[in-house]
Amino acid sequence: MKIKNVEMVATPSTPHYVGDGFRVHNFIPSHPRLDMYHADPFIMLDYNSKFYFPPSENPKGVGVHPHRGFETVTIVYKGKVEHADSSGAGGVIQEGDVQWMTAARGVLHKEYHETEWSKTGGEFHVVQLWVNLPAKYKMSPPKYQAIENKTMQKVILDNNAGMVEVIAGTYKGVEGSASTFSPIHLMNVKLNAGGKANFDFPKDYTTALLVIEGDISVNQNEQVPTDHLVLFAKDGESFQIEANENAIVLLMSGEPLREPIAAHGPFVMNTREEIAQAFSDYQSGKFGVLEE
Ligand code: MN
Repeated sequence: MKIKNVEMVATPSTPHYVGDGFRVHNFIPSHPRLDMYHADPFIMLDYNSKFYFPPSENPKGVGVHPHRGFETVTIVYKGKVEHADSSGAGGVIQEGDVQWMTAARGVLHKEYHETEWSKTGGEFHVVQLWVNLPAKYKMSPPKYQAIENKTMQKVILDNNAGMVEVIAGTYKGVEGSASTFSPIHLMNVKLNAGGKANFDFPKDYTTALLVIEGDISVNQNEQVPTDHLVLFAKDGESFQIEANENAIVLLMSGEPLREPIAAHGPFVMNTREEIAQAFSDYQSGKFGVLEE
């Protein structure tokens, strides 16, 4: 297998707020080399780098809004995220947990800091990744997969290097519990200082990593500090990550869908007509009802 080289290292953009509770650096699609076609099948990546929120009696977050045509994957490193939706579903995503929400034909939901956590405040550190759905699944029924840390598949690395938490796809033959609609590998790589891990993904998959904690070297030559994203070239399969200090890395690799993309705000479909239909369905109440 050939080495997969680093195509570029993206620095975090100036943060902006989503609602009043998510202070995010957007990487996908606003970075010029990470638009929805370049990053296919990943269509959005918002990164709330570690940030202290002071105590608040009213939980901060983002109010009722719709989604259609894709999946939202929320990965909580610090803090707690509470959500509720128009199907009556809801819950809390705890530290270390992942929520994989398939919006598909449509949900209305809201996302907030968990009420009790909000009262004490604290460090909040969260990723939200949107995974596009193949055209034939965009109007399938919505669903949730709650992936709790305690049941997450983990691969312990040799030489006390650390471990890999497999959320979706496989690492060293261990399969993550999330089911996906197209081939996706998603994992947290937790390395001790000096720890190394090797990865192989198909050459033509879109492969990227985000340094959540610590700083790392990739392929022994590229230094990548905290909060930076690496996009890999489609020139080979294998690469190595080495932790210069204790590090957490979110690693994603997905087969491009190679379908047309029509996107408008919370709707990502294949044609402009489907976007118009999404607005019309939303306005006529077909996404259901949810109180603010
Ligand atoms: Mn949302």
